[in-house]
Amino acid sequence: MRSVAIALMILLLNVHNATAHPLRVVCVEAVWCNIASQLGAGVIVTQDLTSRQAIDPHFQQISASQIKRLSEADYVIVNGAGYDDWAARSIHALGKKPSSIIAISALAPEVARRNPHLYNSLDVVARFARQWTSTLMQVLPQNRDRLIANQNLFLKDLSALRDRIAILRKRLQGSRVAESEPVSALLLEDLGLKTMDRRFALAIMHHTEPSPQDVARLEADFQNHDVRVFIVNATVSAPSVDALKVKARHAGIPVIYSAEYPPEKKRWQDWMNDQLSALDQALP
Ligand SMILES: [Zn+2]
Repeated sequence: MRSVAIALMILLLNVHNATAHPLRVVCVEAVWCNIASQLGAGVIVTQDLTSRQAIDPHFQQISASQIKRLSEADYVIVNGAGYDDWAARSIHALGKKPSSIIAISALAPEVARRNPHLYNSLDVVARFARQWTSTLMQVLPQNRDRLIANQNLFLKDLSALRDRIAILRKRLQGSRVAESEPVSALLLEDLGLKTMDRRFALAIMHHTEPSPQDVARLEADFQNHDVRVFIVNATVSAPSVDALKVKARHAGIPVIYSAEYPPEKKRWQDWMNDQLSALDQALP
């Protein structure tokens, strides 16, 4: 009896009082709020810390207003995997309840170890969608039907993306590509594409100078048409990447763009479809 009473008390403590204010969710990255807000449509309000284009999400300084937003949040969603360490330190210092902080990397540690751009993995996004919906259903049980409907809609789009990837994979598997930074690497893996310039791309991601050997190898790959496309991260610019873009174009290698955020007002799934269309066109 006592344990039932305690369980009930815990349950009641976890239920959010919706009349006080709608559940406030702050994501470090715009892309995670893009997904979280679809799953919580009509039930939660979301805000992100990094929706401005042309800032490098890996390296930032947190501002006082960003810390304030984080402190007022009922839930904080972080990417993790080193992607947003600049915010993680402040979130930790705020002393929030561990259960109110959702780290995507913790949902898929085996993927996070390989690449921090977790929003480009359909598997990771699917895991987040299920986990987030179940969290919301616990704290907002009165909105259960709405939350299930939101999840079904989202998972339907995700399944259409999977189908499209499976069709593209049949044609593209084994094709060689190059990336200026491993932003799309997880999506490229799902498509069966082989990234040839991993060391170069990692150097750009870590803001270090790529080695002359790696640059020369990439130039040779363009010249010899050993890669079929050069995928450039549009969010971050680097002189060595700009020079290579010119070399790729001269060699007749198509240049397409990836990014660390979906364009404003574009849903994650539509953005993923755009990326697939760009690859589809560049790799006929
Ligand atoms: Zn990146």
